[in-house]
Amino acid sequence: MSRQKVIRCAACAGRIKPQHAHIGVENLETGAEFSYHARHSCQKRCAEETATRLEAGKVYAMHHYHSSTCPDESPGFGCTGGCFDTPMAVAN
Ligand SMILES: [Zn+2]
Ligand SMILES: [Zn+2]
Repeated sequence: MSRQKVIRCAACAGRIKPQHAHIGVENLETGAEFSYHARHSCQKRCAEETATRLEAGKVYAMHHYHSSTCPDESPGFGCTGGCFDTPMAVAN
């Protein structure tokens, strides 16, 4: 039995490995956090659902969790580890 917390993607209900890149959307009032895969389809769902929740007047903070192997020291979107699919590609 593993005591490790199981993270599930709120978009596809699939399991997210904690050491893999994923997105967390935290409700700042309750501390509850929704997690999403870094892949494009789940990110899109994340953006849509977060917009809906924001419209409902809730306050959220978005966290980008990079993979444990990400080489970037201060990683962000477009990190050298390629953790997150970029919905809007810079290069055409
Ligand atoms: Zn997913
Ligand atoms: Zn990264």
